[in-house]
Amino acid sequence: MSNSERLFAEAQEVMPGGVNSPVRAFGSVGGVPPFMVGAKGAYLTDADGKEYVDLVCSWGPALLGHAHPEIQSAVHAAVDRGLSFGASTPDEAKLGKLIKDRVGGVDRVRMVSTGTEATMTAVRLARGFTGRELIIKFAGCYHGHLDSLLADAGSGVATLALPGSAGVTAATAAETLVLPYNDRAAVEAAFAEHGANIAAVITESAPCNMGVVTPDAGYNKFLKETTAKYGALLILDEVLTGFRASSSGYWGLSGKDEGWNADLYTFGKVIGGGLPTAALGGRSDVMDYLAPLGPVYQAGTLSGNPVAMAAGIAQLTHATDEVYAHILKQSTALQAKLSEAFNEAGVDHSIQRAGSLFSVAFGTSAKGVHNYADAQAQEAFRYAPFFHSMLDSGVYLPPSVFEAWFLSAAHDDEAMEKIFAALPAAARAAAA
Ligand code: PLP
Repeated sequence: MSNSERLFAEAQEVMPGGVNSPVRAFGSVGGVPPFMVGAKGAYLTDADGKEYVDLVCSWGPALLGHAHPEIQSAVHAAVDRGLSFGASTPDEAKLGKLIKDRVGGVDRVRMVSTGTEATMTAVRLARGFTGRELIIKFAGCYHGHLDSLLADAGSGVATLALPGSAGVTAATAAETLVLPYNDRAAVEAAFAEHGANIAAVITESAPCNMGVVTPDAGYNKFLKETTAKYGALLILDEVLTGFRASSSGYWGLSGKDEGWNADLYTFGKVIGGGLPTAALGGRSDVMDYLAPLGPVYQAGTLSGNPVAMAAGIAQLTHATDEVYAHILKQSTALQAKLSEAFNEAGVDHSIQRAGSLFSVAFGTSAKGVHNYADAQAQEAFRYAPFFHSMLDSGVYLPPSVFEAWFLSAAHDDEAMEKIFAALPAAARAAAA
């Protein structure tokens, strides 16, 4: 029995499914998940001493690579000053300012601890500000595990093929209108019917939790214009794409050039540098509706935690243009090698992109993937043999076809060559 097999068996005695987040259980790809004991640069090391090139990067946060020396030393220094003070600290506004300076329309920032909290607060704030009840979300988008946004959600909900979640009341579900992604007519029809009671549209700025789906040209701008026309808010969920798709998130690849800002944004992952921090940001008149200035309540014992703030500041300070250019270059090269391997093995596929983020969708070359129905219709069964062949060759991919692949500044040519070398056999496994 390997150490990971033993650890997984022990974990299953203590935790539901042996995990603290469902996709980690390898449910859709099968097998025993390797338990990790170390991470450095582009590599993970498991409990049996096997090393993997990591293409998950902690699901996004490890932008600079694991255990980046500048983040490690900022964290060590912060730890030495104390772990948590339960009072304001200088670094909170400093991290807030780094976010504000990079993303248009972020006048104010409120730190929270997880992306789920950020979107939950954004939804409550939108309702409080507008005095309306309905929220529009898109099928296949994942915004965390808050009750009102679990319907037709992506990520683990898609991986486990669930329609939503037990435990969400019918009344809560009825306050969320779920529409197909990239479908302007559906949005127009929903506003024509319910416009006076729609508080907000929440969307991933580029969906990455049903696999990656590129928004049609001008789609986010259309959402901004439509919400504005009806007095509703646009909440751009950049928890995954923020400070990763570009130095100013996916907004930097869309709104920045097109001349629009969201009313509210949610951030997470990268801004915590690997520690639990997320944030909500946006227009000052909306944000100032939050307590203590306004009537919408939100709070957190560990919000703005000083160790997490230090990690986030170090991460964003070192996330230079060169970092983003490097990640994009390696991502583009990997996409090309991936297509080459699949083409040689005769595996029909398409590669979906959002900045440096991408994923593969099998059997979709004819029309690509534009929404959740397209993503679900793919030949998903090809992913498990592909995934396991890569894992055996020492490459750690997301354990679900419905997740994006992540690279980091630490993915040097040596790490990339290891990935490239593993691809042909894995593509043949996918063909079988
Ligand atoms: N929003 C998006 C777009 C996400 O991808 C995620 C997590 O993957 C969340 C929100 C929830 O963030 P967290 O897992 O930190 O609660």
